[in-house]
Amino acid sequence: MDFHCHLDLYPGAREVYREAAERNEFTWLVTTSPKAFAATSRALPAVSSVLISPGLHPEIAHERAAELDLLLEQMATVKAVGEVGLDGSPRFRQHYEVQRRIFRAVIARCAELGGRTLSIHSRRAVRDVLAELEGHPNYGTAVLHWFSGSSAELKAAVHMGCWFSIGPAMFDSLNGRKLVAALPQDRVVPESDGPFATVGGKPVMPWSAPETAQFLSEVWNLPVGVAADMLVRNGANLRKTTGI
Ligand code: MN
Repeated sequence: MDFHCHLDLYPGAREVYREAAERNEFTWLVTTSPKAFAATSRALPAVSSVLISPGLHPEIAHERAAELDLLLEQMATVKAVGEVGLDGSPRFRQHYEVQRRIFRAVIARCAELGGRTLSIHSRRAVRDVLAELEGHPNYGTAVLHWFSGSSAELKAAVHMGCWFSIGPAMFDSLNGRKLVAALPQDRVVPESDGPFATVGGKPVMPWSAPETAQFLSEVWNLPVGVAADMLVRNGANLRKTTGI
């Protein structure tokens, strides 16, 4: 399983897509813009194990702001939305207000539509992401991808019922491992975030859940089989409760 993957952006995307569809029980392909969602949905053959969702990545929010209406329209026809969110890191902070306007509209739309499942980017912006979610309690279910906030922010996110998708690259840093150690064990699902996320200079592939289970078993001090079973059970649980 892979709950956050840019499958359409790998070199040789068609082949990676075919292999993911074959190897994974479930792959969530998050797109970075509404137009990319439309193009990807057209270009790749529909497969029941691959969920393709419309998004508007905060790193390109300022370039794609005009596509917001299209996103809000697309959201009526799908169960899941992503990648969306906020990025407050120095490179993107200058466009924070545009990001916030878009994210706020997306969350409001989720509530208006009766709830959606979201894959959310929250780098250096956890507090604001949670505040937007809090503003619309019926938004649905949030899956915070590659969480990198503080321990206090993690507690707040857990308290709000958020889920977390984590991948092998998250274990590269001491802080990443520290955060993973504090995650609620029943709300963690695997992700690759490939091809952007890399390990050892290579893009993480959509079938990297066994590696995540291996790292998890070390951090959580559990047999690897137990960690792997947890990821499978959590993934099934998230899909069942949200209908994705
Ligand atoms: Mn991503």
